[in-house]
Parts: sequence; C-alpha cells; structure tokens
Amino acid sequence: MARVRPDPDAAADAREMAESSREDARAAPSFAAELFLGRMAGELVHPFPEQDPADRAAAEPVLEELERVLREVIDPDRVDRENLIPPEALEAMKAAGAFRLKLPTSAGGLGFSQTNYGRAVALTASWCNALAIWMSGHQSIGVPTPLKLFGTEEQKQAYLPRLAAGEISAFALTEPEAGSDPARMETRAEPHPDGGWVLTGEKLWCTNGPEADVVIVMALTPDKIVNGKARKQISAFIVETAWEGFSTKHVCEFMGYGGIRSGVLAFDHMRIPAENLLWNEGQGLKLALITLNTGRLTLPATNTAAAKACLRIVRQWAHMREQWGGPIGAQEAVAIHLGWIASHTFAMEAFSDYTAGLADRGNTDFRIEAAMAKLFCSEVLFKITDRTVQIRGGRGYEKPESLRARGEKPWPVERLFREARLNTIVEGTSEIMRLFIAREALDPHLQRVGALAEPGSSFGAKLKAMGRGAAHYPLWYLSTWWPGIGAPAGIPPELRGHWAWSRRQVKRLSRRITYAMGRWRARLERRQGWLGRMVDEAVDLTAMSLSISRAASRGDRGSIELADLFCRHARSRIRERHHTPTALDRKASEVAAHLLLGHYTDLERGIVAEPEGD
Ligand SMILES: Cc1cc2nc3c(=O)[nH]c(=O)nc-3n(C[C@H](O)[C@H](O)[C@H](O)COP(=O)(O)OP(=O)(O)OC[C@H]3O[C@@H](n4cnc5c(N)ncnc54)[C@H](O)[C@@H]3O)c2cc1C
Repeated sequence: MARVRPDPDAAADAREMAESSREDARAAPSFAAELFLGRMAGELVHPFPEQDPADRAAAEPVLEELERVLREVIDPDRVDRENLIPPEALEAMKAAGAFRLKLPTSAGGLGFSQTNYGRAVALTASWCNALAIWMSGHQSIGVPTPLKLFGTEEQKQAYLPRLAAGEISAFALTEPEAGSDPARMETRAEPHPDGGWVLTGEKLWCTNGPEADVVIVMALTPDKIVNGKARKQISAFIVETAWEGFSTKHVCEFMGYGGIRSGVLAFDHMRIPAENLLWNEGQGLKLALITLNTGRLTLPATNTAAAKACLRIVRQWAHMREQWGGPIGAQEAVAIHLGWIASHTFAMEAFSDYTAGLADRGNTDFRIEAAMAKLFCSEVLFKITDRTVQIRGGRGYEKPESLRARGEKPWPVERLFREARLNTIVEGTSEIMRLFIAREALDPHLQRVGALAEPGSSFGAKLKAMGRGAAHYPLWYLSTWWPGIGAPAGIPPELRGHWAWSRRQVKRLSRRITYAMGRWRARLERRQGWLGRMVDEAVDLTAMSLSISRAASRGDRGSIELADLFCRHARSRIRERHHTPTALDRKASEVAAHLLLGHYTDLERGIVAEPEGD
C-alpha cells in the first residue's frame, strides 16, 4: 500500500531546494507584503497607477495590426476543432510582431513594456486563446525572458536576433515525476571530459516544445557538498532542438486549447556546449522560479480577456433570451450571476493591470502580487465561465459549429469553459500559489522569530530570536488595534466604508497570523487549510483595494457600482472563511487518509470500473 503521509526526508529535500531557490527580496515594499504585516499601504495603490499614456499609445499600431491579422487569418473554432493553427496563420502573426513583443529593439524586437505585452497577448486570447498560449510559452517563460535576465552578452548576441527573426522557444521544467516538486527531477546533465555537458532525460508537457527551435531546459548537474551534506543542483541550459539526441516522443492532447503544441521531449546523451549553460551552475531552479514570477503575469491578462468575452456574451444573451414573460436577466437568480461576472471582471482587470505596472516600474518586489493575481484571476475566470455556461443554458453546452449549423449565434462558451480549466494548474497550481504566498507572507516573522520554532536551532539563536521578538511585537501588536481614520482623499463616498472595513480586516488578519504562529509553530506549514483561507482573504482584500482605487481613478458611476458590488461579495467570502473551523480541516484529512487506505471502497460499487493502479 502506498504511503498516506509525506516521507519526512523527501519533504525536507523538497523544502530545502525550494528555499535555496527563492528569489531575493527587492528594495521597495509591496502592498501585499505590507498587508500581511497589518498595514494597508494605501499610498501604493491609490491613486491607481494607470499606464503611462505615451507607453499605451506606442503599442496601438501593433495592437491594431494584430487585431486585423487575427480577424483575417484565424478562425478560432476551426483551430480548436482541427487542433491546428495553420502555418500560414502563425507566419502572419509573426510578421505582425506577435512573437517578438518583449524582445529588445536593439535585437530586432518591439521592446514592449510588460503592460503592453499583456495587452497584446490578451487581445489575441480574446479571439484565439490557443494562439495566445503559443505567444506566451515563447515570450513569458520561453528563452527570451531568462536570456534577457541572466544571459551573458555572447548568449544574447547569439540567440536574441534569431528569436526576433521568428525562431520559437519553450520552457522545460516539468517531468513525469517532477510536477510541483522539482526536487524529484531526473533529467541530468553530466560534464563531458572534453568540455560542455551531456544531457539525458525527458520533459513533459513542454508548451511549444515539439515545434521549438530553442528550449530552456532545467536539469540536475553534479551535487554540491554543503555543510558536509550532498545537495542536489539544478542548472539551466539553452538547448537547440536541431542538435543530435533530441526527439519529440509524444504530442499531447488536452481538454481544451486545440491548436497548441505541447509534448514529451526526450534528450538522449545530447552534447551541449559549455557556453550554453545559462547563469551559474546550480542556479537553474532559481532561474526557473524567477522566470515564472514574471512569466505568470500573462495569465491574469489573458484570463481577464476571457472574462470580458464571457461578459459580452451574457450581457447580450440575458437580454435577448425571453422565458416566463421576460428577459432571463430580469430573473433574480440570473441577475445575481450577471452582477457577479461583471463585478469580478472589473476586479480582475484592476488586479492584472496593477501587477503588470509593478513589473514595469521594476524596483518593487512584486512576487506576492504576481502570484495573487494569477491565483485570483484563474480561480475567478473558471467560476465566470461556469456561470456563463449556466446562463446560456443548453446552448452553453453546445459546440459553436453545431449552433451555427442550426442558424444560431456560435458563441464559443463551451470552449471558453474548457480552456479556463487549465489556468489553475499551469505556472504554479492554485494550491502551490497559496503555499508560495503564505511562505513569503510569513517571511518577516520567520526572519525575526523563526529560530524559536526551528527544531535544530541552537540555544543562542533562540535567545536572540526572543530578544528580537520582545523588541518588536508588543508595540506592533498594540498598533494593530488602532483602526485608523477614514479613507484617503479621492475615494468616492460609496466606497469609503469598504476601505475602512478592509483596513480593520488587514490588522485583524496580521494578528491572526501571529496567533497561528504561536499556536502551531513549525507545524503551521502543515495547516494548509488555514493557510489557504488566510491567503484567500489577503487576495480578496488586495482585490478590494485595487477595485476601489481603480473606481476612484475612473470616477464614473458604473465603475463605482461594480467596485461596490465586488467589495460586498469579497466581504461576504471573508466572513464565511472566518467561520470555517480548523477542526473541519482535520476531519477532512482524517477521512482522506481513510479513503487512501481503502476504507470506503463500498461507495464505488455499482459502476463499470477499470482495473486499479497505473
Ligand atoms: C497544457 C499544459 C501546458 C504546460 N506547459 C508547461 C511548460 O511549458 N513547461 C513546463 O515545464 N511545464 C508545463 N506544464 C506543466 C504544469 O506546469 C504542471 O502541470 C504543474 O506544474 C503541476 O504539476 P503536475 O501536473 O505534475 O501536478 P502535481 O504536482 O502532481 O500536483 C497534483 C495536485 O496535487 C497538488 N499538490 C502537489 N504538491 C502539493 C503540496 N505540496 N501541497 C498541496 N498540494 C499539492 C497540486 O496543487 C495538484 O492539485 C504544462 C501543463 C499542461 C497541462
């Protein structure tokens, strides 16, 4: 029988590897990081930092051209049905600049800011999401981003012009045994006696991989001895698929996104020149995680675009569809869905724009905001597509070509629903995002008093931690009971109450974090239910602040109304989370352990079942 609890040694290895690869904090504080410390840093979100008009205008001609090409050469339903983006359509998108948006102008790229890049990929996603995945697999996480961040001058000169000329790239981290846990990686690069490396192994679900010219591959390199103990090393390599030893073993097919190319890549004793090691030996996982920290900003932008597509459909349908004497949108049950979709789309856009702007400003540590935006937008989008299917009724379940064939509007709701499901899995699953955010949120506390909870820490270290705690916490704790006064100037009267409420909750949240640290100490990291709710609350509070500030910056009645409704929903969710007892998590874990041990197999009676196992 397989184990039902984590192996402590393997868990420690995974933790150590993740810890040693965390991105170093940057100088400027971030709104979300401050929030976990009990401070609602309003000055960081209000007035809403809107995109610089000159930067916005600079992208307009490219966006117009992209839209023209999309309309003229891409039929998104056909792409989905035939699971193919025609080569000539890809070439037309390349000619319009879609695959060199983020490359520097000096290398033949368009030098787009993160915000403009997000706008271009979102525009594409709103028409053909699969094509947006091609662009994002190449530019958000593929070779250009890590190359720009970590490449030597020679590496940049060798590869950036090729990428600008149309070569496609990919990012290969995942393996059959290494999904969320890179410590289980098996692909190896061994030093060759004549110099360079020999790469052997397999990468799974590498987006663009089967068509790529160059791939960033993360692989194990020889262990390093740290404090007398062997520590696994992961390094990153720029690998060309034309080199001997490369093959695509399998092209995968998925629930949605027909037209993407993602597959199993195999490397069989492939020789890699020494100069293709990217950054330093042993820093490959850190490189991958830093790349993902920025790369995952694309998903909030494309998710928001998909939410807008849903909004456009339900607005028209709920108005035109009449049942029981009037438009379905006038029935309260449907109206509640409509309000939810509109208000949450508003919050998604605020979150996505804000985080892209943070990346453009460069000096802020935006890791938490990026992870929050990814978590929030992907989870919300799935609920939006679900509600959209519901509002469309039977038509929501019907394929667009079938709708078209019987003379109805071919809104692709079932495709949007299938596509939305991927976003909570890739580039960090929702569960991993919550753990990542919680880890970063607790970091200032761990720096100060973490030694108290660490089983191996010395008496001296514990004493020092106690001193730091005694100097900081009493005053800090008192300050968290000061509710603060009003809301900043410029916040509309309708939203001022939400702002003040959020500020009180932020302080309350930070107190609850310290109580939990005191109560569970080192065991806190295993309280994933509690941590997840704590993170979700912080995400809702951040989304509230951004929605309020965005509505204040726009100032129109519609924005204020949408922000108000979003805040009401978020407040109701937060209250509900406060009422979820941790005893429920423990009971659920108990039942899960029994389930894994086969206690409830009676429940599976009466179905036609496959044989058990792999
Ligand atoms: C269409 C598609 C495209 C992809 N593109 C790429 C790509 O270009 N490059 C690339 O490298 N990868 C890619 N991936 C891989 C993707 O990033 C992984 O699927 C993802 O990282 C999760 O890994 P996994 O699927 O193996 O899930 P697992 O890690 O096996 O996780 C399974 C479940 O367990 C949960 N879980 C795991 N560990 C924990 C934990 N410690 N605590 C709580 N919950 C946990 C997860 O959240 C998830 O719900 C792609 C995947 C797909 C489907």
